[in-house]
Amino acid sequence: MMHTVAAFDRIGEENAFAVLARANVLAAQGRDIINLGIGQPDFRTPDFIVEAAIKALRDGHHGYTPATGIPQLREAVAADLHKRFSVAVSPDSVMIMPGGKPTMFMTIMMFGEPGVDILYPDPGFPIYRSMIEFTGANPVPVPIREENGFAFSAEETLQLLTPNARLLIVNSPANPTGGVTPKNEVDRLVAGLEQFPDVAVMSDEIYDHMTYDGEKHVCLLSYPSIRDRLVLLNGWSKTYAMTGWRLGYAVWPDKLYDYARKLAVNLHSCVNASAQYAGLAALQGPQDDVYKMVAEFDRRRKVVVDGLNKIPGVSCATPKGAFYAFPNIKKTKWKAKALASSLLEDAGVAIIGGPDFGILGEGYVRLSYANSTENILKALTRMGEFLESRK
Ligand code: PLP
Repeated sequence: MMHTVAAFDRIGEENAFAVLARANVLAAQGRDIINLGIGQPDFRTPDFIVEAAIKALRDGHHGYTPATGIPQLREAVAADLHKRFSVAVSPDSVMIMPGGKPTMFMTIMMFGEPGVDILYPDPGFPIYRSMIEFTGANPVPVPIREENGFAFSAEETLQLLTPNARLLIVNSPANPTGGVTPKNEVDRLVAGLEQFPDVAVMSDEIYDHMTYDGEKHVCLLSYPSIRDRLVLLNGWSKTYAMTGWRLGYAVWPDKLYDYARKLAVNLHSCVNASAQYAGLAALQGPQDDVYKMVAEFDRRRKVVVDGLNKIPGVSCATPKGAFYAFPNIKKTKWKAKALASSLLEDAGVAIIGGPDFGILGEGYVRLSYANSTENILKALTRMGEFLESRK
């Protein structure tokens, strides 16, 4: 009998992938399925980015790159962060990663071990908790509340920090709620963190381009007092509709940079070379496609919120970021996961139950509006009719 390590019995996953697989099975059986489950833009990667990858392949970029990424791309990331947030970032702190998730994985591996606390948002991206449990660290959920606009509460977060805390994970704009933490709350959080100099912070800013209603993204690199213990997670997946390319970046503090570089050498050697050239074109080329996509998400956001609020028993706060709506279904008789599963099986609409994002997710479901307005409207009609018929 094999003896694998116990940590693998604790690792979780992302139910959105299981829902996607099930939706695909039903669609293959000929069912008309509308997928509002998976969190990825329904747009194609802009053509000039695809062309840059093809050119890189034709030009012979077929070999390993440095483990930390091609220097020009690290420089372009630093320049982009400076342009958008007026922050000074050395390209030496930037590492090109195979997507956003690997930064999460590495950071949690660097801080998690039995006996330490890692704080993470609940509801939040499920991989945070999965990885924390994998390392044996104690997962400490930070409540993200509807009554607080699904933003982090500085006060509540700081109250949860104990001498055992090693890492705080923050995410804004947020998955699954679409919440955006406003600047005054971030200011308060960072000010409070000055009392906890041993706590590192990982800021997941993968949705940083997607804010609405004049809301401005606050990049945590703008706070000098935490710069030497801040990991920034970002990437191309959502902004440039490049989820399948597996291209992301991290900004690491000095000590962690070398750990991450060694992990990269041990794990993946380097990121796909042609994808890195595509990423360079994305940052240096026109940003019109990003603006168009965000404007389209904004239009659909209004459609989805409007439609949800017309369904009896459902109420949906207006999300300020990302491309998710997180309606409250507590006034229907349904448990969230049962509703998500029946809606897929019986009405052909894929959504995700809130509990897949944490304990506080009960009573909510997540709809991704990365789908056409026509499909969103059809899905909302089906959801309304389904709830009406199964009261
Ligand atoms: N962080 C958050 C909050 C996400 O929602 C996602 C993807 O859904 C990721 C990170 C992972 O991004 P990537 O596909 O680049 O690994």
